[in-house]
Amino acid sequence: MIQFEEALQIVLSHASLPETENTAMSRSVGRILAEDVISDMDMPPFDKSAMDGYACRRSDLNNKLEVLEVIAAGQIPAYEIGANQCSKVMTGAMIPKGADCVIMVEHTRQTANGQVEFTAPKTAGNICYTGEDVKAGEPVLPKGLLIRPQHIAVMASIGCVNPKVFRKAKVGILSTGDELVEPHIYPGAGKIRNSNAWQLMAQAEAMHAEAYYFGIAPDDETHSLARIRKAMDGCDVILLTGGISMGDYDFVPAVLHQAGFEFHFKSLAVQPGRPTLFGTTAEGKYCFGLPGNPVSSFNQFELLVKPLLYKMMGHDFRPEILRLPLAVDFRRKKSVRLSFIPVSLNDKGEATPVEYHGSAHIHALTQAYGLMSVPIGITEIKKGELADVRPV
Ligand code: AMP
Ligand code: MG
Repeated sequence: MIQFEEALQIVLSHASLPETENTAMSRSVGRILAEDVISDMDMPPFDKSAMDGYACRRSDLNNKLEVLEVIAAGQIPAYEIGANQCSKVMTGAMIPKGADCVIMVEHTRQTANGQVEFTAPKTAGNICYTGEDVKAGEPVLPKGLLIRPQHIAVMASIGCVNPKVFRKAKVGILSTGDELVEPHIYPGAGKIRNSNAWQLMAQAEAMHAEAYYFGIAPDDETHSLARIRKAMDGCDVILLTGGISMGDYDFVPAVLHQAGFEFHFKSLAVQPGRPTLFGTTAEGKYCFGLPGNPVSSFNQFELLVKPLLYKMMGHDFRPEILRLPLAVDFRRKKSVRLSFIPVSLNDKGEATPVEYHGSAHIHALTQAYGLMSVPIGITEIKKGELADVRPV
């Protein structure tokens, strides 16, 4: 049994470098940039008004000013501003030459003869200057970035319509277990629905990996081997659930070995999720044998599979971990494993463990805001003390 940090290091040390492809900017949320994105222009590209108002000289703020023209956004000013002159400008419009400030329209008044005077002449510039946000040739988004909606705006603003991204990792998912039926079937006596594989499919897709489903393998070596080989054909990473503990029908390690996998670990000091194995083949395929219980497999995907898939897609993944105070005392008897406890969040921002019956209790996760980690050696976290919580 090895500790989580060591397991993560082992997993990440095997991640291979990804290939790249171009994708449509509009479809690129969730993808990883494969090169720095460079601006092809200054931003803003011209001195621009931040307000609806009057562009003029600061030295004229106490005078009555002649209005030369009205400049709409997108229009080129016709006149240069001279002494005691101004032009009305709309937000986003080009600042006319000669002006060095814009007085917002709310602080102005028209005189009887069509001039403008300022009721609260403020010296704030209200001008966004050429290149003050970004200079042409500067990188605006870095290689390795996980693209989010605000990055799309940056790409759009500099014309990056086909960003180069890393290829999506291909993940093959299969369940094992004679007790499993697919979700559309009402389970007969002794059977349960396959929830795990669909949860894993969703976890993989939520992080923009390509997930492929290879069904339920019965608990026998021949059928399992055939399915694993099929999954290995087109996929980079194979995720299996169930069949890796000490039961009489837990064939998965043996079958993965027959399929060519060498194992780097088979068990982790993590709860839930101790029976978790990780293997690789000489041809560069990866496999995880994940525990059968859905909370365990969820947890191990988040802890180990997700960082691997992200690294294979070019992204150095750092999980979001919040330090939250506990609303109640927490105690546990054993402390030999790193535990993950489902917790809710109250309106004071405190965490409380939710009712949780163990790793088959998938409903506990639906009530959880996150998973609180309790380190090895810790048996107690007192009310008010801070705990690490990963939102789920
Ligand atoms: P195993 O590791 O195969 O012994 O499975 C451990 C527990 O998880 C057993 O109670 C299984 O019935 C359950 N389990 C295994 N696979 C799944 C699955 N795909 N969906 C839901 N529960 C499962
Ligand atoms: Mg089983």
